[in-house]
Amino acid sequence: MVQKLLDGYRRFRATTWPENSRHFETLAKNGQAPDSLVITCVDSRVDPVMIFDAAPGEMLTVRNVANLVPPYTPDDTHHATSAALEFGVRVLKVRHVIVLGHALCGGVHSLLENAADDKHEFIRPWMSIAEPARALALQAPAAERRRSGEHEVIRLSLDNLMTFPWIAARVGDGNLKLHGAWFDIANGEMLVMQPDRSFAPVR
Ligand SMILES: [Zn+2]
Repeated sequence: MVQKLLDGYRRFRATTWPENSRHFETLAKNGQAPDSLVITCVDSRVDPVMIFDAAPGEMLTVRNVANLVPPYTPDDTHHATSAALEFGVRVLKVRHVIVLGHALCGGVHSLLENAADDKHEFIRPWMSIAEPARALALQAPAAERRRSGEHEVIRLSLDNLMTFPWIAARVGDGNLKLHGAWFDIANGEMLVMQPDRSFAPVR
C-alpha cells in the first residue's frame, strides 16, 4: 500500500474515528438517507464534502471528468454516471441534485482546445457529451472562454438531467430540485446558478 495513505489512515483511526464512531455506528445500523447527490469533476482540488462542510451520510458524490451528465440513453453499455443517478434518485430518493463545476477544469480545457487527441481512448468520446457547451463557449471573448465553458458544461448537465424521465417526473411533482454551482479553486469562492441561469457568488 502507499505509505502516505497508510499514514493518513492511521491518523484517521487515532483521531477522526474515535470522534465520529457513534455517527458511523448509527449510519451502519439505520442505513444511509442522504438528502443530496453532488455531481462533480474527478479533479483532486475539488472536494465537495469539504466545500459543503458535510458529514458522512449527508451526500452522495458522483465524480467524472468535467462533471458531465450524459443524456438519458437506456442501452446495455456501461453508464456509471446514469447508474449513480438512478441509485440516488430512484432508490434513495434524494431531494437535491447539484452539478458542481470548477475553475481550471482540465476536461473543459481539452474540450475547448480539442486537446484530447487520439491516444486517449475514453476522454474524447466522453467529452463529446459537451459539444453543445463548447459551441456556446467559443462565442465568448477569448479571455472569458474557459470560465464560459465551465459554466456552459454545468447548464448542459442540468439540461441532460431533465432527459431522465424519473428525474423530470420528480422535479415536476416538487420532490426533487436541481442546482448548479461553480467553485473557484484559487480563492475558495463558490458561484451558484440563479433562476436566469447566470452564476452569482454566495452571500
Ligand atoms: Zn474538472
